[in-house]
Amino acid sequence: MTVITSRLLARTGFIHGFGTRHAVEGDIPSDVHVLRQVHGERIVCLAEGATRGQSAKGKVQGEDPNLVFRGLPEEPFRFDRGDALVTAIPGIALGIRTADCLPVLAGDPSTGMAAAVHCGWRSLALDLPGKVIRLMVEEWGASGEDLVAALGPSISTCCYEVGPEVIDLFRGYDTGGKPYDIRDDRYYLDLRSITRCQLLMAGMDPDNIDDLRECVACRPERFHSHRGKRSEERMLSYIRSMEKR
Ligand SMILES: [Zn+2]
Repeated sequence: MTVITSRLLARTGFIHGFGTRHAVEGDIPSDVHVLRQVHGERIVCLAEGATRGQSAKGKVQGEDPNLVFRGLPEEPFRFDRGDALVTAIPGIALGIRTADCLPVLAGDPSTGMAAAVHCGWRSLALDLPGKVIRLMVEEWGASGEDLVAALGPSISTCCYEVGPEVIDLFRGYDTGGKPYDIRDDRYYLDLRSITRCQLLMAGMDPDNIDDLRECVACRPERFHSHRGKRSEERMLSYIRSMEKR
């Protein structure tokens, strides 16, 4: 299999996939909109009726420079700049490219809206997953209880060594244990448990979060990893929004 799927997302009807290094043209939809990461908290919302500078709800763009509304482009774009892509327009494929960072795909089965979120430590330090979930619930009326999310392949605690200054950013998180490991005086960050924690704090149900638990650095034959195999290549993950139920 060149694309991995989440049972939870599939059960709720969302067409999606986490690409592996073997994904070829045809495994990923050709109409997918893809972001170029800026490793921060920039959220790009594709909104029906959004005009330049204003969201569909009339919210003036620029109040928050990290929240950008765009009307649906005629052609799929590669690449707008951002760290998360969200839409409530049905049938739109949203994509993000990752190597070591954690790709998170989320959807609300009752409204059909979808999100693709790129979670590296810089974005997690800014609570990007939590911000995306709150935006979907507060701005567009997604149901916090119904929202589903899947955590795709990323570098994991077994391999993700970071400096103590990065660990310090996450010490406050209670993930049921610590959001990091210490082995032989070295620190290893747990992107998955921090992301899960942020999704829960934003109101998601723990049963609605699927974790695929694949470490990209442990499996270079299957995944690209900057750290694992010094690869500059990235993998594309996508989710397609649905019609309202
Ligand atoms: Zn590993």
